[in-house]
Amino acid sequence: MLDEFQATGRVRTHVVQHDVPRFAAHPDTAAAFLRLRAAAARDGIVLEPYSSFRGYAAQSRIWERKFRGHAPLYDIEGRVRDRAGMSEDEVIWHILDWSALPGASRHQWGSEIDVVDAAVMPPGYKPQLLPAEVADGGLFAPLHRWLDAHIHEHGFFRPYARYQGGMFAEPWHLSYAPVSMRAIDDLSLDVLRRCTEASDIPGKARVLELLPEILERHVRNIVPPPPGCAW
Ligand SMILES: [Zn+2]
Repeated sequence: MLDEFQATGRVRTHVVQHDVPRFAAHPDTAAAFLRLRAAAARDGIVLEPYSSFRGYAAQSRIWERKFRGHAPLYDIEGRVRDRAGMSEDEVIWHILDWSALPGASRHQWGSEIDVVDAAVMPPGYKPQLLPAEVADGGLFAPLHRWLDAHIHEHGFFRPYARYQGGMFAEPWHLSYAPVSMRAIDDLSLDVLRRCTEASDIPGKARVLELLPEILERHVRNIVPPPPGCAW
């Protein structure tokens, strides 16, 4: 059970820092991820955490840069959207296509890790975490076929396996079910509302009005763990 500051990523008392590879996660997630990584290594994959625990402040910076136009908004194919004439509501929903509302990100729970395969990256390669990389012929396509076959036996699943009206598909985003399937219940509407009211994110007034819909469409609307994924 996460308290409301843990569930919204405003503290990191529920995560541990791991050094090699470098990532931060709930202790149970960290242990399971290292087992998954060891299994991947036996098949020639260097399973690298690209992003793991991300606290409220970091999520706020992402939100602010996208809201103010300092970072691009992408469409479902990963193409940059034209912002000309976009209403505030459109900006908010288009940010939410790819990025969570601060306070509502699964990365705040310590249960989520975005992964890449360091074994196939050319020197200096910067992962995009966009669809082309994981599609057939993409750099990380073989990694994803391996993940398809093996994550569930280690307790991981893909909450954004496919687009179903909330977040766009993010197959690289793995979730450790024993931690996240409990955390999702800790992030209630009241908890998220108190967190947002205490914030100064741009668009706050409209976000507060949209909060119940954001919670339903972007937090609760996940692809659940399959039967073979124990939690
Ligand atoms: Zn992610």
